[in-house]
Formats: sequence, C-alpha cells, structure tokens
Amino acid sequence: MATIKPIEGRSIHQIQSGQVIVDLNSVAKELVENALDAGATAIEVRFKNNGLDSIEVQDNGSGIAPEDFDHLALKHYTSKLSSYDDLGSLHTFGFRGEALSSLCALSRFHIITARAADGPKGTKLEFDPSGKLRGTSVVAAKQGTTVVVESLFYNLPVRRKELERTIKREYKKVLNLLHAYACISVGVKFTVSNQIPKGKKTVVFATQSNPNIRENIANVYGAKTLQALIPLDLHFEMNPSKRPGSTQSAPNRSTPADEASRGVRIVGYISRPVHGEGRQNPDRQMFFVNTRPCTLPQVAKAFNEVYKSFNIAQSPFICADIKLDTNAYDVNVSPDKRTILLHDQSALLESLKSELLQLFEAHDQSVPQAQL
Ligand code: ADP
Ligand code: MG
Repeated sequence: MATIKPIEGRSIHQIQSGQVIVDLNSVAKELVENALDAGATAIEVRFKNNGLDSIEVQDNGSGIAPEDFDHLALKHYTSKLSSYDDLGSLHTFGFRGEALSSLCALSRFHIITARAADGPKGTKLEFDPSGKLRGTSVVAAKQGTTVVVESLFYNLPVRRKELERTIKREYKKVLNLLHAYACISVGVKFTVSNQIPKGKKTVVFATQSNPNIRENIANVYGAKTLQALIPLDLHFEMNPSKRPGSTQSAPNRSTPADEASRGVRIVGYISRPVHGEGRQNPDRQMFFVNTRPCTLPQVAKAFNEVYKSFNIAQSPFICADIKLDTNAYDVNVSPDKRTILLHDQSALLESLKSELLQLFEAHDQSVPQAQL
C-alpha cells in the first residue's frame, strides 16, 4: 500500500496559514498594510490585553464591494496582482491574497465594512476557518473597514501558550513596527490604543495627518527627538556592478533588474554625528524600501559603521526610506515580506557609505575617529 498521500485540504490551509501569520506582529502588519492599500487616511489600531484578547484595525479607506464578499478571505484571492509579471511594477503592500484567509484559520475573525455609497449602513462578515463566507448582517458603520482578530492561535495550543508567555515582549515589538508605519505614512492619521482587562482604554500614541515625516516623528517620539536629528536626502547613481551576463556583448540577456534605473534616493532623518546626539542603544532604527518597512541588516550595518566613525559611543536614530525602481528589488522572499532582496546591494552599500560620509562631514568639523 502506498504510504505517500496528499495532506487533506484543511490541514494544508492551517499549516500554510501558520507561516504567514507567525506572531502578533504579522497580524498588525498585514492589517495596517491592507488599510494603507485601501487608501485610508485614518487608521486606528486597538489592542485588548496587549493583543492577547484581540487586535482590531479600523480604517476609513475604500470599503469592500458586496460583489467581493464571497471570495474576500479565500486563499490567493487578491485585488492587487493577477500574474507573476505584475510583481515587477507592484505599488501595493499586499499581493499574495493570504493574510485574511490565514487569519480565518488561526483566530476568531470578522470584518465590518461600509462604502460611501451605502450611507450609514455597513455589513458584518463572518467566515469559516477556510475563509468561506459564513454569513452577513447589516450593522451601523462609517465608510471604511474594521477587521477584528480575537483569540489569536486559539486552535494552536503550543503557539497560544508561547504567545501568552511572551505577550509583553511581543506587544513592544508590535508598537515598534507601528511606530515605523506611523512615521513613514505621510498624510495618514494613526491612533494606537490598548485596553488592559478591567482597565480603561488608553491611547498609546497618535499622529495627526501630517504633511511630512518630520512631524510624524515628532508625534511618535516627541518633538525633542527632532533636535538631535538631521535630514537625510541622498541621491546617487549606483556604481555598475561586474555581474556575469550583463556585458554589452550580450544585450539580450539583460534582466528587468539590469534595466531598472540605477538612481537611488534615500530620504528621512538620522542623528547628528556628534557625541550626545545619538542614542545609548541601537533601537529606533527604521528602514523602508519605497515606504515598505523591512529588515535590511547590511544597510543598517553600513549606516551604523559610518555613524560610529564620528560618534563611537552611541548609535544613531535612523528613519531611512530607500526609493528604488520597483524592478530593482524583490519582496517575494519571505512569507512576511519583511526580507527584501536588493538586486545590486553591494553597489548600493558602497555608494551609500561614501554619501553618508560626506553628509556627516558637512555636519561635523571633527576628523573621523576611524578610517572606513
Ligand atoms: P492581499 O493584501 O495580498 O491582496 P489579503 O488577504 O490581505 O491579501 O486581502 C485580500 C483582499 O481583501 C485585498 O486584495 C483587498 O481587495 C481586500 N481587503 C483587505 N483588507 C481591506 C481593507 N482594509 N479595505 C479594503 N479592502 C480590503
Ligand atoms: Mg494584505
């Protein structure tokens, strides 16, 4: 008798969902990104019991059309991408149609949505664990969408226990991520609140609909933080890399990455390269690629190295958005899309270091303490 058999559909769905939604951070990230993709200008994130009981994200974006209710939370159903080729010109955070379906499998989940055309009425949508629409009801609602995720991992006992054990740390991590979205999202009002059991709801932080990153940073970290910062606005062309196959004699073998514009712009804020203006710990370092928060260890290392050659005892605050041609990087590397592959990272790092050095030298008369 054959021993190799397919896993049944429900189990596959649960296994895969557990890779998309790995922790509290992934829930907040997916829901905030959906709100931004829906064009929201006001986003409210509400935690109950640090997220252990529930996390809700309410937006004033487009709302969801009734024709989309049936397949809204089905796996790989998305309004953002229809073929792999579209990935090169992607301008939304989402594209895989996995977040809502995964949340159906891993939490008690519902959505309330309303469109401007529907007046003060909205629809509450409930789903089964596979993401199939189970029922709808009419509720009072303002334009936009509220996604409610309760009892995350209630059906995965090991993960639920781990979440309970680490919730304080997890909650801190989520707040850091939300700080990043709030800082980079110009013109979007963020409000983040938490309600501990039997306690009052408290606003943890909030931004106004600010016209620039600077005011967002002031709202999130306090206006005093700005005094120690200088603006980042670097423009450079990356040095051509010596990649095999990209020679002039083989023009037909060039990839979209080769054809992508080699121009890079990096905007944001960084600590003044002077002792006393940096930070004791290497916290508060946020990196983005075209406003998508991501982890870029090599880029972070380059920033820190150059900074330390001016202020060896401290680490900089960094809020840096790397503006790149959409063909010059790949976001489809990890399920959470936080890992980004930059096609020409070494060329970018080289140019970045020399640009930063120039910027810091202009702000500091002292000679660098270490040669790079
Ligand atoms: P993806 O973002 O990759 O498309 P999701 O599972 O996160 O996948 O969402 C599925 C679809 O549901 C989206 O493509 C979008 O059309 C719709 N959607 C999700 N959240 C919202 C929201 N807050 N407002 C409007 N539409 C939404
Ligand atoms: Mg999404």
